[in-house]
This record gives sequence, C-alpha cells and structure tokens, in this order.
Amino acid sequence: MKKLEDYVLSIPDFPEPGVIFRDVTSILQDADGLKLAIDELQNLLEGVDFDVIVGTESRGFIFGVPIAYNLHKPFVPIRKKGKLPRETISRTYNLEYGTATIEMHKDDIKPGQRVVLVDDLIATGGTIEACAKMVEQQGAKVEKIIFLMELAGLKGRDKLKGYDVASVIRYE
Ligand code: IMP
Repeated sequence: MKKLEDYVLSIPDFPEPGVIFRDVTSILQDADGLKLAIDELQNLLEGVDFDVIVGTESRGFIFGVPIAYNLHKPFVPIRKKGKLPRETISRTYNLEYGTATIEMHKDDIKPGQRVVLVDDLIATGGTIEACAKMVEQQGAKVEKIIFLMELAGLKGRDKLKGYDVASVIRYE
C-alpha cells in the first residue's frame, strides 16, 4: 500500500532556483491520496479537545474543512488581505522578500475558544505564527497546530515555541 509521501511530487527549482517545492496538488488528484491525507492529518487531533478549526488561505482550507466536517466543528478562514466582506482584524508578517498581510473576521472566534490551526505546510513558520497571534488577539487559545508537511530544515518550529505542533510528513 502506498504511503502519503509517495503521492507528493517534489518540484526542483520552483518558485526559484535551489528550492524544492513539495506539491500538495499531487496528493489531491488521487482519491486514495486525498483520503489518506485527511485521515492522517485528522489522526493528529486524537484526544485533543477544541472548539473550532482555523485554516489559512488557500491550502489550509482544503485540509481544514473536511476535518471540521468529520469532527462536527465549525471552520473559520484566514484570508489574504481584502477578501473578507465583514469587519476584520489583520496582521502583517515578513516573507523571504517583502511582507504579506492576512485577515480574519472580527468575532468569527470568541474569547476563550480553543482553536486548532491547520495548514498544508510549514516552511519558515512566518505564516502560521501570524495566524496564531491573530487567534490570540481575539482572546482565544491555540490548542494545537497541525500540518500535512514540515520542511524541518527551515526551522519553522523555532517560531512556534510554546505551541503544540505536529505534522504528518517531515522533510529534513
Ligand atoms: P512559511 O510562512 O514560510 O512557513 O510558509 C508556509 C506557507 O507557504 C504555507 O501556507 C504553504 O502553503 C506555502 N509553501 C511554502 N513552501 C511550500 C512548498 O514547498 N510546497 C507547498 N507550499 C509551500
């Protein structure tokens, strides 16, 4: 039987020379791969008590919503700036080149709620750190952070000290 790793295509020199891009879409296009990805990611939440899943645009949506559906929990999106129609809170963080701004609806999560954060992949950790800070800014608690893939060499976990972090596939 194929393992989840077997479904991931690794693309050299994308988006720039020297980078190996781990292509999540290659998992999704195989029904067995898709099921395995959701199941294994969901397994990381075994025994975790929480109220809401927060996923970040765009691949955090792909993986966060099926798990929320399976576990009968609500799902809250974090989106790139300018996409959400109601009043938002925002956060700007550093990318390798330049900055990015992400937003979530004010009041989508409530003070005291226990939040699971989901994304497809952690690289430098900047994106998910910004997400965690936004959740906390709303008075909620980050109960656990889960990823399908982790590029361990980029040391993203260093930005997430104090959080419970887990991933399904780890690339050194
Ligand atoms: P970070 O903020 O540096 O941790 O980057 C994480 C974000 O960039 C995630 O939302 C990923 O979707 C995306 N990303 C970075 N590298 C890759 C990759 O190799 N494959 C797929 N997505 C990536």
